[in-house]
Amino acid sequence: MGLIRSWVESANAPDCPFPLNNLPCGVFSVGAGAPRCGMAIGDQIVDVAGLEAAGLLALPGRPLLDAAVWNPVMASGPAVWASVRAQVTALLAEGAGRKAAPFLVPLASATLQMPFRVAEYTDFYAGRNHAFNVGTMFRGPENALPPNWLHIPIGYNGRASSVVVSGTDVRRPWGQVKSAEHDMPAFQPSRRFDIELEMGAVVGTPSRAGYPVTVAEADDMIFGYVLLNDWSARDIQAWEYQPLGPFQSKATATTISPWIVMKAALEPFRIPTPAREKPLLPYLHEPRPMLYDIALEVGLTPDGGQETVISRTSYSEMYYSAAQQLAHHTTSGCAMNTGDLLGSGTISGTEKGARGSLLELSWGGKEPFAVDGGARSFIEDNDTLALRGHAQGDGYRIGFGDCSGTVLPALADPYERA
Ligand code: MN
Repeated sequence: MGLIRSWVESANAPDCPFPLNNLPCGVFSVGAGAPRCGMAIGDQIVDVAGLEAAGLLALPGRPLLDAAVWNPVMASGPAVWASVRAQVTALLAEGAGRKAAPFLVPLASATLQMPFRVAEYTDFYAGRNHAFNVGTMFRGPENALPPNWLHIPIGYNGRASSVVVSGTDVRRPWGQVKSAEHDMPAFQPSRRFDIELEMGAVVGTPSRAGYPVTVAEADDMIFGYVLLNDWSARDIQAWEYQPLGPFQSKATATTISPWIVMKAALEPFRIPTPAREKPLLPYLHEPRPMLYDIALEVGLTPDGGQETVISRTSYSEMYYSAAQQLAHHTTSGCAMNTGDLLGSGTISGTEKGARGSLLELSWGGKEPFAVDGGARSFIEDNDTLALRGHAQGDGYRIGFGDCSGTVLPALADPYERA
């Protein structure tokens, strides 16, 4: 399938991230106005809450788009998701009347907000190359991959409260660290603050407590995908992570891109997960391809400097798909809810320039890499890190919008009260 042309001319440019094929879901505000649900189209946002209120978009039951988050639509299931897409596509397609024109808002005039209310957040560790690189640095190459890694999509339960939308500043955290030269740990600002380049899967429909779901059912539950940066304090992580995994090192913030790209927009880009090194247990078998071919990159911009692209990789590097992760998440009988967010795990390729964290790019700080105006091992104060991604179609692309954040200096005294 090629480009679906729109009367919103900017949406038809081959490099536009938001053609009519995409229609990603976001929440925007203009000035002091209240946040509203919208979908990106070209250089505009179509105010879908306005369309629904005006009777141009009819969804079953009750108003679903007046909530300033997409959760009510997400909870309504695949038939409603398809209906929203079909109706908005019909309104914006080339040759349609311009009844939706009064509901267009220039993207440049809008502030993008959290597109959904995060119920709970789980982060996985499903990138083979990342797991091998980090394992090599922390435990040596012989023990790099934990013995369970090729059998289980490993994850930890993160904090929904830490998830923020692109553009939100991130404060360098304080934490407990311990260096090899000292007998005692110290409490200090993190010196090894880092990113993790990930994709996030957003759960639409819930699962029933006590009953695991199949991989096919899990895929049906997923509403869409975002870019996700799981900010990580490596020095805090190295000291705290055994035996229960990361805790405060990953709890400062997790940034997501402002647009949820619905699964339907990614359908042409489905690909299988890579060949299995060990056979998976039957409950993790994929009945059809459930990964997506999405090109990813990371840019680092120093304070007042130019951006350097420090990594280029692809979502196709994942060993486990989000559907496999979601299916595994329910094996215990754990109920999954509308608005649950699943981080993929850091996405790294095999080449040095394809690594999805500064920890790997600088090999634990031993090999600083060049950026505009200097070199980096880890993030410095006032650096801005931006994740970008798109799936490349025939004459069009499906973009996510930047997933960006600037790291502010640590508080001088985190316990001082103004
Ligand atoms: Mn992570």
